[in-house]
Amino acid sequence: MDVRRMRGTGVSPGIAMGEALLAKRVVFTSRKEIIDEAQVPDEIKRLRQALDRTREDLVKVKEGVREKMGPDSSLIFEAHLLILEDPSLVGGLESVIRDEKARAEWALSKANSRFEQLFESLADEYFRQRKSDVSDVLKRVYRNLEARREKEKQPRKEHILVAHELLPSEAALRLSRELTLGVALDMGGQTSHTAILARSLGIPAVLGLRDITRQIREGEFVIVDGTDGEIIIDPPPAVRREFQAKKEKYENYGRELQKTAKLKSETLDRVRFVPQANIELPEEIALALSMGAEGVGLFRSEFIYLRRESLPTEEDHFEIYSHLARGAAPYPVTIRTLDIGGEKNLPRLNIEKEPNPALGLRAVRFSLRHKDLFRVQLRAILRASVTKNVRVLVPMVTEVDEILEVKDVFEDVKKRLRQAGEAFDEKIPLGVMIEVPAAAALADIMLKEVDFVSIGTNDLIQYYLAVDRSNELVSHLFKPFHPAVLRLIRSVIQAARSAEKEVVVCGEMAADTLSAIVLMGFGLRTFSMNPIFIPRIKKALRSIEFRTAERIAAETLKLRSAQQIEEYVVEEILLRHPQVFLTGQPLEAAPKK
Ligand code: PEP
Ligand code: MG
Repeated sequence: MDVRRMRGTGVSPGIAMGEALLAKRVVFTSRKEIIDEAQVPDEIKRLRQALDRTREDLVKVKEGVREKMGPDSSLIFEAHLLILEDPSLVGGLESVIRDEKARAEWALSKANSRFEQLFESLADEYFRQRKSDVSDVLKRVYRNLEARREKEKQPRKEHILVAHELLPSEAALRLSRELTLGVALDMGGQTSHTAILARSLGIPAVLGLRDITRQIREGEFVIVDGTDGEIIIDPPPAVRREFQAKKEKYENYGRELQKTAKLKSETLDRVRFVPQANIELPEEIALALSMGAEGVGLFRSEFIYLRRESLPTEEDHFEIYSHLARGAAPYPVTIRTLDIGGEKNLPRLNIEKEPNPALGLRAVRFSLRHKDLFRVQLRAILRASVTKNVRVLVPMVTEVDEILEVKDVFEDVKKRLRQAGEAFDEKIPLGVMIEVPAAAALADIMLKEVDFVSIGTNDLIQYYLAVDRSNELVSHLFKPFHPAVLRLIRSVIQAARSAEKEVVVCGEMAADTLSAIVLMGFGLRTFSMNPIFIPRIKKALRSIEFRTAERIAAETLKLRSAQQIEEYVVEEILLRHPQVFLTGQPLEAAPKK
């Protein structure tokens, strides 16, 4: 066979090589098999037995995962059990069997297509991925319809796991740090469960390969390049050697980088900076700290809502925030209030469908419209703040009045907590995201009302350049080095510095080496990013003098296009300061000044 190369999305970096192990795929039937009226009761019984078996399976999986990975990771299976208990789902399946006189397989297949259509119509990638939760449950039931279930063999030797898609439950059980060398899937993207899990287990993974399951046979040798998002099937010896070298280089690089976790976060000329973590799941805190995070710069609290089938209670919020606060102490934890609405529609929140969701009832606009939900979240954050390291961050503010309204609610919640004798941090800092251009223009005024600001470059660039951040057709226009963007960000950093208040960048720009150097040059000190990028940014900033960053940043302001700026920065750094990217040097040995 010829060597075959395929491109997908690299969701977990690193290189893995080994023999492919193909996971069995559940394919919903497209054939409607008709039964007699008299067979209907038996068919319903068959469905109910499958539902019972699925319930037993899920309870077992939940317990297994809880033991292996802790209580937070097993939450997803509680959600799956709730899906299974949903009377409208079960009732719907039974009525298809009864009304259409069809087999249970058909009823499940129909339900699955209905959910797929529903989720596909949502614009947000995270929500599209959630269809796999419902699909996961339906597929389990489907499998359990067969009375003699063929047990899938548990692999005993090292392998590259290849599958059409991994159900969240399968991902949690099948990905093993010891045996799973790498993962390659037809489906899935950056925010799927498999991606999140592979990253936290450090298993290289490439998803969204479309048809790798058709291109590869069981036992074939395969290379997974999770860094560049490539798969090579049946590579000749020369290619194997090339990737072996790349793997070793990557692993050395990782080991070198990891050492930075314990080193001081300061430039060659001893200017301090603070790397922090953006996290979505509370269990990520340990990984973040091991990567050198000095706190959580952004906890995206909407994920609490997304992982549950019902609305989270104050206790649900409280448990998560306390876990984070205790886990990160003495470092700070910045909890961003709900950033939901618009295209991130959750049926149970009854959000109306909007014609232009990105400009709709999102984030703080949603919270101020639904103050009851907002209060629940604020109460929980305040109660968790007794550790004195909790901060509140409000997303998407556009005008000062919104801040004042948020403060009114916040003060009122505090007052009631005092009356109830509940302890909280009276000095809990309140900050706002600067991610709408109007907020950037008003930064100096907004800063008078808050303790800190956090620049969300993902949305700021989207709204400033009028480029949808998730639309591939215009992704070439999403330019962090656009001169207008750099000027705007610089003005916010400067406003914060003049006001002597902290400014953080928590958008993707903070995780890009060249951008981070320019941001540092503009006066930024706190960089918050996905924890896996912290060592890389820390290494880069430790390898350069602040005054160099300052000079480079000042030069960028004289240039007229993103391309010119990028070329200039690349040339300066690559040619004059290649140490920013180099590894293998003793990191402790900073030249004496
Ligand atoms: C941002 O907009 O840059 C940001 C950090 O928030 P999110 O990506 O969650 O919108
Ligand atoms: Mg944002």
